[in-house]
Amino acid sequence: MQKRYEEALKNPIFPLIASAAKELSLDCYVIGGYVRDYLLDRRIPKDIDIVAIGSGIALAKKVASKIPGKTDVSVFKNFGTAMIKHADFELEFVGARKESYHRESRKPAVEDGSLHDDQKRRDFTINALAFSLNEKDYGSLLDPFNGLEDLDSKCIRTPLEPKITFSDDPLRMMRAIRFATQLGFTIVPESLEAISKNRERINIISKERIVDELHKILASKTPSVGFALLHQTGLLKFVLPELLALQGIEEVEGQRHKDNFWHTLEVVDNISKTTDNLWLRWAALLHDIGKAPTKKFDKKIGWTFHGHEFVGSKMVYKLFKRMRMPLNDKMKFVQKMVRMSSRPIVLSEDYATDSAVRRLIFDAGDHVDDLMTLCEADITTKNPKKQKKYKNNFKLVRQKIVEVEERDHIRNFQPPISGEEIMKTFNLSPSKEIGIIKDAIKEAILEGHIPNKHKDAREFMLKKGKEMGLKLLNN
Ligand code: ATP
Repeated sequence: MQKRYEEALKNPIFPLIASAAKELSLDCYVIGGYVRDYLLDRRIPKDIDIVAIGSGIALAKKVASKIPGKTDVSVFKNFGTAMIKHADFELEFVGARKESYHRESRKPAVEDGSLHDDQKRRDFTINALAFSLNEKDYGSLLDPFNGLEDLDSKCIRTPLEPKITFSDDPLRMMRAIRFATQLGFTIVPESLEAISKNRERINIISKERIVDELHKILASKTPSVGFALLHQTGLLKFVLPELLALQGIEEVEGQRHKDNFWHTLEVVDNISKTTDNLWLRWAALLHDIGKAPTKKFDKKIGWTFHGHEFVGSKMVYKLFKRMRMPLNDKMKFVQKMVRMSSRPIVLSEDYATDSAVRRLIFDAGDHVDDLMTLCEADITTKNPKKQKKYKNNFKLVRQKIVEVEERDHIRNFQPPISGEEIMKTFNLSPSKEIGIIKDAIKEAILEGHIPNKHKDAREFMLKKGKEMGLKLLNN
């Protein structure tokens, strides 16, 4: 029995596509993400995939000619696809295909096929669902692989033999894990096993594609689901070995350290409750990566990870480079968060002095709030008393940051005395003395010896100049 879903096709673009297809005497269907997300009541997707039994490009051109006003069609001849941007939507047209794969590549040999052929080549049953746009059965759901049942039972399952599906295109392994994370679905055991078996084949996938999927996993509500699956299937070793190196608990002389991999996943889930900033979520994922190479056991103090923040920030650069991620301000932000990730913790353990808070604001600059968010997410103790104490301490540090900032304006610190003023005052040409005086003024402000005001800084400068044996211009 085919179910009818006219409601899903209410957008006037669908009857328009249907009439264009009729004029060309070809059948066409809405397929993939739009159908899946509509049936899940998830969101109205902005991307609509249309599969034509015939030329997708010809259909796109016909549709464009029927939309009032001028509509551009982007044609990708090599792929046999065409795209139209209309209103808020991106319509992607493709001819139905039959595919066969070679072992070395995820690029299949392609020939024209039926709707069923095309549904067979889709990655998951829930992505193979299609709505008909044809007069004879407009609005019918075509579901040869029981995708609807899998939507109901929240399962990720491949239409064909999973071993073949994942081996043909190993990107599907990342996509399975990503959909499981985004939708809260379970990957069926045969598929999970096939992913484990094919994990090494992820090496034929471009880094950019892998990173796209990692971004989507990290952007979801509970990213730990995805990273736990990457770990369970053994993909983590190929994708983010730095994280895998954090897994495990060692015991020496009865002293154990925590498992920093599972701790990290908790931190990522925690931060995802308070921020949508993807790069801050990356910082949470990577904040402890320096712990694996710096781990040591000291007979007197037990387990230590000295300098892991600094080592970790260096590793961020290498990781971004290897994964072909941007080596720009986003990477620098992640590095900075990793490098500073213990600073507020130290403050919260003790009474936070004004000067320590000023230094924190000075070093973190505009990112001080993000840094506090990261540190709060880092509280994963299961001891409710400690949990409460740490949270409360961070609240106090946050309050103090606001107070100190209001009074001293340290964020985006601009020196109250310019190099030029120092040169003029002491009749100096550019020289290292200017740097020494500027630095001394900055230190005096951060330490709280003088307020961050021009008048006080000028007095301090004159005193400092005298100490250094400098002469005033007019003397
Ligand atoms: P999202 O927009 O959340 O990424 P989507 O399902 O729309 O979800 P797309 O990557 O736009 O994802 O793919 C559109 C459709 O193309 C999918 O629903 C699926 O049917 C098919 N598809 C995409 N990638 C693959 C693949 N690697 N193997 C098989 N089918 C795929």
